[in-house]
Amino acid sequence: MASASTSNAQGLEAGRRKSKRESYFRSKREGKHYRCEECSRQFSGLGSLKIHMRSHTGEKPYRCEECSRQFTQLGNLKTHIRTHTGEKPYKCEECSRQFSELGHLKRHMRTHTGEKPYECDYCSRQFSDLSNMKKHMRSHRKALQM
Ligand SMILES: [Zn+2]
Ligand SMILES: [Zn+2]
Ligand SMILES: [Zn+2]
Ligand SMILES: [Zn+2]
Repeated sequence: MASASTSNAQGLEAGRRKSKRESYFRSKREGKHYRCEECSRQFSGLGSLKIHMRSHTGEKPYRCEECSRQFTQLGNLKTHIRTHTGEKPYKCEECSRQFSELGHLKRHMRTHTGEKPYECDYCSRQFSDLSNMKKHMRSHRKALQM
């Protein structure tokens, strides 16, 4: 089932102007050289391929010394350790509140920007926070049941 038939129509088109050799070296330099044998994903560096391979092998070389939880990536361990140390490296530039996770800061930033990505299915009211929207939608469901 692994038919690797890719269209080279575009490559031929480009090849008419530039010499083949030149475009070959270009793609070699910019291209991704390391390929995962499990899922054929390609990576620019051997290091990132090795990290990716752990998602197939289930290997978790990074261990938290506080609670022995294990992680596939160093970044994930570092984020986790903040739950023990209480470190909050993400700071809101608007109000100086600090957050341990980037996602929390981003969610908080919406209160300043007024961005409201969540929309109620019933009345199209918009909400900046998912949990607020869910709460709101519950009130619709209650009304429907009555
Ligand atoms: Zn893979
Ligand atoms: Zn831990
Ligand atoms: Zn803020
Ligand atoms: Zn609504």
